[in-house]
Amino acid sequence: MAHSVSVKIPKLNKTIEVPTGLFINNEFVPSVDSQERIETVNPATEEVICSIVAASEKDIDIAVAAARQAFKTTWGKNVTGWERARLLNKLADLIERDAQELAELEALNNGKPVKMARDFDIGDSVQCLRYYAGWADKITGQSIEVDNKSKLAFTRHDPIGVCGQIIPWNYPINMWAWKVAPALAVGCTIVMKPSELTPLTALKLSELAKEAGFPPGVINTVPSLGPVGGAALASHHDVDKVAFTGSTVTGRKIMEAAAKSNLKKVSLELGGKSPHLVFESADLEQAASWAALGICYNSGQDCTAGSRVYVQDTVYDKFTSILVDRVKALVVGDGLEEATGAGPVVSKGQYDRVWGYIDSGKAEGAHVLVGGEKRQSKGYYVDPTVFTNITSDMKIVKEEIFGPVLSVGVFKTEEEAIALANDTTYGLGAGLHSNDANQCMRVSSALEAGTVWVNQYNILNNNVPFGGKKQSGIGRELGSYALEEYTSVKAIHWNFGDKLD
Ligand code: NAD
Repeated sequence: MAHSVSVKIPKLNKTIEVPTGLFINNEFVPSVDSQERIETVNPATEEVICSIVAASEKDIDIAVAAARQAFKTTWGKNVTGWERARLLNKLADLIERDAQELAELEALNNGKPVKMARDFDIGDSVQCLRYYAGWADKITGQSIEVDNKSKLAFTRHDPIGVCGQIIPWNYPINMWAWKVAPALAVGCTIVMKPSELTPLTALKLSELAKEAGFPPGVINTVPSLGPVGGAALASHHDVDKVAFTGSTVTGRKIMEAAAKSNLKKVSLELGGKSPHLVFESADLEQAASWAALGICYNSGQDCTAGSRVYVQDTVYDKFTSILVDRVKALVVGDGLEEATGAGPVVSKGQYDRVWGYIDSGKAEGAHVLVGGEKRQSKGYYVDPTVFTNITSDMKIVKEEIFGPVLSVGVFKTEEEAIALANDTTYGLGAGLHSNDANQCMRVSSALEAGTVWVNQYNILNNNVPFGGKKQSGIGRELGSYALEEYTSVKAIHWNFGDKLD
């Protein structure tokens, strides 16, 4: 069977070949023992795009062996930092060259607007690769003075080894870049498992990695169902680290599998139920714009979606009326249209899940301020829905929805706002809007979250760490902090004169 399929890229009006095999040792190959295939679907039309090979456990073993071999020979400690930097920069150049094509493929498979995929997801991914290329020849340890003149200790920051990387479907290209860039920069090799819902761009990026010149086995890509390929990576005895982004439920399974196998290092970027506080001194026009962006961006399929907004009672009416205008202004439609601000949600499963929450909000007595009505047309569309009259025990307030569904509540005092914001098992993101600098400082330090935005929301930078507190995760991505996730520190104690009696 051919290991690629022709896919029409509509706006460029050309047909491209998308690989459909497993990418192992720089070749696209079939499964060694399985006929299983994964069907990819366009969520705007509900039509099948193509089917690809699904990796079995045996395929995962082969990919891990390829990554181990590369780690021992062409990569790991056998490649200089500046060569790693050169290849990362080259890959960034190739992604930039193919940005429109990749963005359209992402829009077809994920539903997100092409413009967003191209200008933000891909733009940020290119920057991410270049940022870590900058680090590749600066991975250094410390020289440490010890007790006398005849001894010295120093540390080396070694690449940790073979990394299993398991990513979700909401930012397929971006999550790929966030994972591979720091790992490659320090000299690790990779077995990447993209989400079974959105594997196409990861396969295309693998092709570009080969073109950039990464040696065979350095990056391997194995689309697979989570409980098959993902679970095999998490429990593999020859994987040194697993980096995961996805739901808290799956994160627990990964950690358990790591503990039960070889105690591999684990980093987890999990879910959230992020609060957004609007104080009376805030610029309400701005706060409403950021709050709308916080829940509508990527159709709410964002781990940091600002899904709970709490507003001070004195400005509640004014704020909510501006918020309704902002939400209604968003154009929800086919991601291939340039004017589209948000596309459909990713899949039928996600569509049913989000509508289940909207129905539960109505049943539990929350008031629908805007949205909340199903469309009768094709495509997994959910128009942004804002609930008011909420209580803390409602499902829509407690659970991560991962769709454009916002709960708006009210508070009287700063203490009450902080208590409401922190009343969650999650701790990924939080936002606050206030023009009182002392209040900004007090509240930002009291919020229990890995990232706090002040007078903005959902803006990330490659040089600033990102990750969760509480049940939103372990470890940090981005910035210099991510390098620690992929290195292991070796201490060397050197005796150059001390003799035992
Ligand atoms: P998910 O947990 O269902 O799947 C994530 C990945 O894990 C997929 O590749 C999937 O195939 C794999 N997987 C599923 N079961 C597995 C298992 N038993 N063992 C190993 N791997 C398995 O999550 P999703 O639905 O793809 O993504 C949405 C979730 O991701 C949301 O909860 C969201 O908050 C979270 N997310 C977090 C961040 C972050 O940085 N914190 C970023 C994006 C998404």
